[in-house]
Amino acid sequence: ASESLIQKLNETIENIPDFPIPGILFRDITPIFLNSKLYEEVIEDLAHFSRGKVDAVCGIESRGFLFGIAIAVALDVPFVLIRKKGKLPPPFISEKYELEYGTSEVEMREGHLKPGQRVLIHDDLLATGGTTEAAARLVEKQGAKATQFSFLIGLNGLKGEQKLEQFNAEIYKILT
Ligand code: AMP
Repeated sequence: ASESLIQKLNETIENIPDFPIPGILFRDITPIFLNSKLYEEVIEDLAHFSRGKVDAVCGIESRGFLFGIAIAVALDVPFVLIRKKGKLPPPFISEKYELEYGTSEVEMREGHLKPGQRVLIHDDLLATGGTTEAAARLVEKQGAKATQFSFLIGLNGLKGEQKLEQFNAEIYKILT
């Protein structure tokens, strides 16, 4: 990304300490949507990373939808939602993953991805990588391949990127 885009995002994204629990610095990306020109720049930057390289985009609920669908439209490829458990009607496939305490589950409509497709998985933020890893497993269960991951923010120090190494995919993050 250009220095100017990085600077604008750093000035726009709000960092809120101790939300939703003590010790977490919450990165609130929603002020980006107050500025349509900035939103367009973000989408073009993310689309540039993936242009000509993927056959479909998957976005992770819910902030991954806000950027993912616009990336897919810019690339003229299909968009597939990865949702939290219980939101999608059948037929769907599921993948469980570990949280710090307990487990969670993500789901995808069956048959919306086609075998052999190269897929970009997009979310707003990479933290531990658990959610994104489960999303990539859903993609692979459909016979497609997670060839790219993109994020607005990739937090260092939480080993998210290490967790994604197994997929041998390209990783792009605008900010750290
Ligand atoms: P993880 O599975 O640990 O990589 O968590 C990634 C998901 O949690 C993403 O969908 C983020 O939107 C959300 N998330 C995790 N940490 C933060 C944070 N510090 N600020 C905002 N969202 C976060």
